[in-house]
Amino acid sequence: MDTEKIIEAGKIAREVVAYAKSIIKSGMKLIEIADSIDAKILELGGKPAFPVNLSVDDVAAHSTPAWNDDSVASGLLKVDIGVHVDGWCADTAFTVDLESDEENKRLIEAAESALDLALEEVNKKSKLRGIGKKIEEGIKSKGFSPVVNLSGHSIDRYELHAGLTIPNVDNGNENEIGEGLFAIEPFTTNGIGKVKDGKPSGIYHLQSEGNVRDSFAREVLAYIKEEYNTLPFCSRWIYKKFSSRGMLALRQMKQSGILYEYPQLIEAEKGRVAQAEHTVLINKDGKKITTSL
Ligand code: MN
Ligand code: MN
Repeated sequence: MDTEKIIEAGKIAREVVAYAKSIIKSGMKLIEIADSIDAKILELGGKPAFPVNLSVDDVAAHSTPAWNDDSVASGLLKVDIGVHVDGWCADTAFTVDLESDEENKRLIEAAESALDLALEEVNKKSKLRGIGKKIEEGIKSKGFSPVVNLSGHSIDRYELHAGLTIPNVDNGNENEIGEGLFAIEPFTTNGIGKVKDGKPSGIYHLQSEGNVRDSFAREVLAYIKEEYNTLPFCSRWIYKKFSSRGMLALRQMKQSGILYEYPQLIEAEKGRVAQAEHTVLINKDGKKITTSL
């Protein structure tokens, strides 16, 4: 673990969150928000650890504008931002209410307070089920449901989801969280508390070493390996570099199993969803929330 780079990624993510909060307005094009956030991350010396997720209302996660997307910010907007420094990631999210809706505000407050409860409590001896229980009880006490099949995760170098799951409910897992880098991310909803797969998101990651016959697709693949390694990237970025031929190459590589395309995640009963997320480093010195002061 490179603590210095982890801390640096967290610091950049904090600044990008403050910047994002200052620019996002109802009616602003999502693509403009996404491009501005990408540019800010680079300006501050980081790289995006994944395409910023801008997910509205019942879309819980895995939504990012395509190159030709003209949808605008509205409703209950989740902004999930990833920054990496040499593969060491910070993963943080906030939610804004763009329609001055009382229930939206309470959903946001429930997600934020559940995250605070979990972060206050967590240490290397914490049982995973205990963290989940804190989050679950916090959310239910506000009259909402946690999304049971979305969870936090351990993070490794160039590996955003490194294997360990940090539940948003008491899932009975007696294992301790231990030392490492973790994202904790409660999702609250006024729906049933589950997400299902929606349409393809345009967010991909490299999933297998394969060969492509087409020489242009090979060039795109080499670029993906070089730029993103195994971290998620999006069609918008590939379009910028390779234009519409890049889109064809993505399709080919998805069909041959080299790339995995994430589906959007939609609340199963179309409930609205709010999210809060921070990254926390737990080591022998204790814990440090890298994405918060
Ligand atoms: Mn995230
Ligand atoms: Mn995460």
